[in-house]
Order: sequence, then C-alpha cells, then structure tokens
Amino acid sequence: MKIITTIKGIKKEINQAQRKRLTIGFVPTMGALHQGHLALMRQAKKETDLVVISIFVNPLQFGPKEDFRRYPRNLKGDAGLARTAGEDIIFAPSVKEMYDNTGSFVDMSNPPDQAPSRVILTDKLCGKSRPGHFRGVLTVVTKLFNIVQPDIAYFGQKDFQQALIIRKMAQDLNMNLEVKTLPTVREPDGLAMSSRNKYLSVTQRSYANRLYRSLLKAKKLIISGEKNCQQIIKAIRAIIKTIPGSRIDYVEIADPETLARIERIKTRPVLIVLAVYVGKTRLIDNIVV
Ligand code: AMP
Repeated sequence: MKIITTIKGIKKEINQAQRKRLTIGFVPTMGALHQGHLALMRQAKKETDLVVISIFVNPLQFGPKEDFRRYPRNLKGDAGLARTAGEDIIFAPSVKEMYDNTGSFVDMSNPPDQAPSRVILTDKLCGKSRPGHFRGVLTVVTKLFNIVQPDIAYFGQKDFQQALIIRKMAQDLNMNLEVKTLPTVREPDGLAMSSRNKYLSVTQRSYANRLYRSLLKAKKLIISGEKNCQQIIKAIRAIIKTIPGSRIDYVEIADPETLARIERIKTRPVLIVLAVYVGKTRLIDNIVV
C-alpha cells in the first residue's frame, strides 16, 4: 500500500493503472477511519482492480464555528486499518496541495425552468444549518474525481443527503463514473459509526444510541399504519429528549429522491432523517422505510 501526498504523484499512479486497463475504485474520506469506511473499501476491492482512498479534512465544507481544527487526524492509524481492507493507495494531500489558488467552485442552483424560490437539494436538511457545506463537499469531490478518475466511487448512506447530491452532480455534469451508496454500518448498540463519536463523553456515548432507537420507533409506527408525519416526528422527538444535553437540529420525514418534506405518508419509501447535538457534538442518522 502506498501513501501519496501530491497530486502529481497520484496522477502518475492513475496513469499507470489506466495504461494497464485496471478499473479504479475510489473512497473519499476525512480519515479517523472506522468500520463504516472499511465496508466501503472492501466493496471497492471486490468490484474494482485498484482501490484508492483519499484522506483529506476539507476546510471548505466546515463553517467558521465548526470543528475543522479539532477534527480527529491519525494518518498512521488510518494506514494500518486501510491495509486490513486491502487498500492499494492512500491519497492524503495537504490543504495547500488541494487548494493552492483555487478560485473555482462547484455548487447547485435551480434549473432555469424552475421557480427560483424552490428549495434546492443543497439548501435542505444539513444544508439549512450548515450554509456552504455542500458547496465545499461538491468542490472537493469534483477535484478528487478529476484527480483519481475512478470508474466507481463509494459513499455511505449515513450521509444520505451528501450521497444524493453527489449522484445528482455526477449526472448533471456528465461525469464519467458510477456513484454507489452502501448501507450505514452501526456499533453493536445501533449508533451509526462516525469519526465524530470520538468527541462523546462516556455518558453521552451511553445515551447516543437513542437516536437510532428513535428512528426504529418511527419505522414501527409507519409499518403499523401511521400516516401522519407530525405524530411520527413527535414520537422521535420524545425519545431524543431523554438524551441528557441533547438539542435537536432537525427531524424530518422526506421524499428520498427530492428531500421534499412529507406531511402525510401516501407512498413509500420515505426517508426519516435527523441531526442532533449531543453536548457539542453534532450527530446525524437516517433510515429509509
Ligand atoms: P467521512 O470520513 O465522515 O467524510 O466519511 C467518508 C465516507 O464514509 C462517506 O461516504 C460517508 O458516508 C461514509 N461513512 C461514514 N460513516 C459511515 C457508516 N457508519 N457507515 C457507512 N458509511 C459511512
């Protein structure tokens, strides 16, 4: 396994692979790897010849008051873990290497035939509370796609909105690759694995699985015939409120394609999605029912 830090260096490897007609699988990450990341890598290893992961904490997708500086970084530990998943190349550039003189950005806006007031995918859910976040994500992912030129790129359902937006961008901009989304990997108690779980105190961690439990409660209600989303959201909120020090950013039931809010369930599947602060740590989770 190679660790490469320059764009020139990784392009050379990619060139060589393409000359040998190898297919390239790509898993973009911000590091602090866990089993959720490894599941994406293992799938990539199964489906493609050469697997590249990127480890880059992207300043462009963090707000000024967010955790960019303290986001966990551990390249050595990550390299050890990635090796166990059969990783071929880690691309771990510096911020300067990625953004020297960048003045171009990728973003979404309303297509010309739609009312300008219509809320676009990047402004909903996490986009509402993290302005500019998805512009940062789309810009870095586009740069990484251009550098790595993958045949298949792998994303996790844990970040449902992110995966949806990236798939839409790849379609809109005719990017020559397939975007795959894989299921959320959870801790044994149900908490979605996340690099940010490291911020939780022992007490916070012991309560954090209630986020998933609240989603399962909602699923149960829907399966037993509840159609009124306000009622379902009320049940979710009631469970979340029992987590000490929690503050709800949003809880929504939405169309999994358009992310439009649903008031009454008429067709399925629906997306149940939430973002909650546990202490200062913002956690997200979702299920599709
Ligand atoms: P991150 O390092 O948090 O930016 O995540 C990198 C990729 O791993 C993204 O596509 C995430 O959706 C995915 N990912 C993160 N956590 C999980 C998880 N628990 N299960 C599956 N995929 C995940």
